[in-house]
Amino acid sequence: MNKKEDSIIDSGWKIPEEQKTLQQKMQEQLQAQLQIQAQLQQKMQAQVQEHQALQQQFQEKTREALQKQEKSLTEAPFTAMPQMMDTGNLRVASIMEESIVDGPGMRLVVFFQGCRHNCPGCHNPDTHAMDGGYLVSDMEILNRALRNPMLRGITFSGGEPFLQASVIATLAQEARIAGLDIVTYTGFTFEQIMAHRDLDDGFIALLNATDILVDGLFIQELRTLDQPFIGSKNQRIINVPATLNNNEIIVPFII
Ligand code: SF4
Repeated sequence: MNKKEDSIIDSGWKIPEEQKTLQQKMQEQLQAQLQIQAQLQQKMQAQVQEHQALQQQFQEKTREALQKQEKSLTEAPFTAMPQMMDTGNLRVASIMEESIVDGPGMRLVVFFQGCRHNCPGCHNPDTHAMDGGYLVSDMEILNRALRNPMLRGITFSGGEPFLQASVIATLAQEARIAGLDIVTYTGFTFEQIMAHRDLDDGFIALLNATDILVDGLFIQELRTLDQPFIGSKNQRIINVPATLNNNEIIVPFII
């Protein structure tokens, strides 16, 4: 032992009071930080649990909605509007001369009358009655479209266009010859239409004359406002010519 160490022991060396207070303060600060960390962790855990619960709710709603839609597959009301057969007339709820929200580019939109899907939350309930709206010939609709050089195409909406499929298909064929493209909305799915194609020659004729099919019921629980051209997330934007060629659902890369 050297002289210096001897002298510290001899002098009864203690931690000075100032240093003690500093150490105490540091310990207190450390404890406070640990407490804040623990609180943050608790908050994060609560947020994760809340997010997981919301995700579960959304998944359950989606499952229920898809089950509901699947049920409608077996109950699908496909019967065409009888008064429409072979007349060349179409029963229409209204016609919008220019729209940019019902398909790509500027479009003439025909809202057809008649729909049996009864989707809860439907935006066009006035189009459901089979005897509502008014009659207009397919050629008159085509002429209205051809008078507007700004149009890229015609959109068939509803109501349910597939209840008047044959006459609409003729209109669509003429419009395509004139250089317009065709978007068709339907509450049926592509698969439902294909499965019931023997019921009405117009089903395949209308599909063949359609460029883009927006299919599926409007399902309130899956409603979306941020995806273009669809009302609920179950609906698909289908490239019909590619889908028919490839025998599988093809969605357009660019529309
Ligand atoms: S298919 Fe369209 S028009 Fe018919 S009930 Fe559903 S949302 Fe309404």
